[in-house]
Amino acid sequence: MADSAGIASFLEGLGCVQVESESQADLIIINTCAIREKAEQKLYSYLGELVDFKKNLPYLKIGIIGCVASYRKQEMLKRFEYISFVSGARDERTTFLTYLADVIVQLQTEKQFFSATALVDDVATVVPLERDVKAAMSERNAIIPARLIKEGSQAAMGGTLAPVGEVKRSFINITTGCNNYCTFCIVPFTRGKETSYPLEDIVLRVTHEVAAGAKEITLIGQNVNSYTCPETGARFAALLEAVAQIPGEFWVRYVSPHPKDMTRDVLEAMARYPEKLCAWCHFPLQSGSSRILELMNRTYTKEEYLAQVALIRALVPGVSLSTDIIVGFPGETHEEYLETREVSAQVGFDMAYSFVYSRRKYTKAYSMGDTCSAEEKAGRLADLQEVLRAGSLVAAQRYVGKNLRVLVEKRGANGKLLARSSGNHRVVFDGDALLIGTFVEVHVVEAGQSELRGELISSPLMIFSEHGLAA
Ligand code: SAH
Ligand code: SF4
Repeated sequence: MADSAGIASFLEGLGCVQVESESQADLIIINTCAIREKAEQKLYSYLGELVDFKKNLPYLKIGIIGCVASYRKQEMLKRFEYISFVSGARDERTTFLTYLADVIVQLQTEKQFFSATALVDDVATVVPLERDVKAAMSERNAIIPARLIKEGSQAAMGGTLAPVGEVKRSFINITTGCNNYCTFCIVPFTRGKETSYPLEDIVLRVTHEVAAGAKEITLIGQNVNSYTCPETGARFAALLEAVAQIPGEFWVRYVSPHPKDMTRDVLEAMARYPEKLCAWCHFPLQSGSSRILELMNRTYTKEEYLAQVALIRALVPGVSLSTDIIVGFPGETHEEYLETREVSAQVGFDMAYSFVYSRRKYTKAYSMGDTCSAEEKAGRLADLQEVLRAGSLVAAQRYVGKNLRVLVEKRGANGKLLARSSGNHRVVFDGDALLIGTFVEVHVVEAGQSELRGELISSPLMIFSEHGLAA
C-alpha cells in the first residue's frame, strides 16, 4: 500500500489523475505480491483480463512492479508481450520513477498520434521504451534531474490513499527489505536487504502528510522494530516518540513488529503517547509450537512469545492484539498444530490472519519434506479459524457499554458510517457523512465477530451546534 500510494502521488505530481476503472485508464500499474502462490495466480488471471483493454486502446501502457516482478521479470517480459514495462521491488525506486516520467511523455505522444489519425500503424512508428526498467536505465546511463531525484526519493517512502469520500490515510515505509530469512518467506529474496530511512526524513514526511490532511499514519516495514536510523543510530522507540510529538490530530500505527525484537522502550513510548500512538499491536505468532518456530527460523519459542504478549498487555493499557498464523508448515504434526490452536485460544487475539503454508521458490522450507495432505491442512485452517473467531468475539465484548474514540473512515454500503478504534476494531454507527475524516466518540452497544456497533455520543459537529455555529 505504501509503494502504491507513493507512486500514485508521484504520478499526480506529473499531472496524472486516478480513474475509477481500467476502461478509463491510459496507464495501469500492477503492484504485485509474491508472499503466497495464490496472490501470484491472481496476477496472472488479472493480466489475462487486461488483454482486451490493450487491444481496444493501443497506446494503453500496462506495467508490473513489486515482488513478483522481482523474481519473474524475464519470464513476464517473454510471456506477456503486451506488457509495457516490468520493474522489481529490489530495483532502485528513483530510477523507476524517472523511467515512469518518460513513460508519461511517450504516452502523451502516442495518444496524440492516435486521436489525430486514429491509425494504429502510426502509433507503431514511436520507438517503444525498453521494457525491462533496470536494463533501460543502465543502458541509457540517464542523468536524473535533481527535481525527480527529490520527488522520487520522497515517493519511495510512501504516500496517502484517499479514495473519494474517504478519510486520508498515509502509509510510510520506514524500512525496506528484510534480513530475517524466516524459512517459509520469499520477502528477503524479492525485496533485498533491510535498510532504514533516516529518522529526520520520516518525521518530515509524516509532518507533510498530516499538513495535507492525513488522519492516520501507518509506519511500514517487514520488521519495524529492528529500525535503526542510518544517520544517528536511533532505534524504533525513538522514532515512535519523534512521530508522536508532531503537532496535529492524527493516529499512528505500525506493521509489522517481530516478536524477537519487541523491547520495553517501544511499549513504554506507546503508553506515553496514547493520543497519537494507537493501542494496537500486530504481533505475528506464525506457530504455537517451539519446534516449528525453530524450523521456521523465527528465533523465539512459544514461551517467549507468550511472555512478550504479557509484557505488551502489562505496559500498554487497553491494548488490542492481532496476529498472523501459518498452518501446515512442512513436517507440522497434528499435536504441533494443536499447540498453535491452544496458544491462539490462550492469547485471545482481537483479530488474526491465518494461512495454509504456501511453498515458495528460493526459500529454505521449499526443500523440506512434507507429509501432511492438503485436506488435512485445510482442516487445520478451518478449525483454527473457528477458535480465532470465538476469541475475537470474546475480546470484542469487553468494549460493550464503553465509550470509544474512533476515526470515521467512510460510509458503508448499508448507509452506516464505518469507523475504526485505536485498537483497530471496525465500529459502525448512524451519522452524518460530514463526520468522515474526524475523530468522534461512540458508545458501544453490541459486539459482533467482525465489528462493534455503536451510537454517536460526541462529535465536532455537536460542538459547533452547541455554540450555535452550525445546525
Ligand atoms: N514481516 C512480517 C510478515 C510479512 S508477510 C512478519 O515477520 O511477521 C505476512 C504474512 O504472510 C506472514 O506473517 C506469514 O504469516 C504469511 N506468510 C509468509 N510467507 C508465507 C508462506 N510461504 N505461506 C503462507 N503464509 C505465508
Ligand atoms: Fe518474511 Fe520473516 Fe522477514 Fe517477515 S521477518 S518478511 S516473515 S523473512
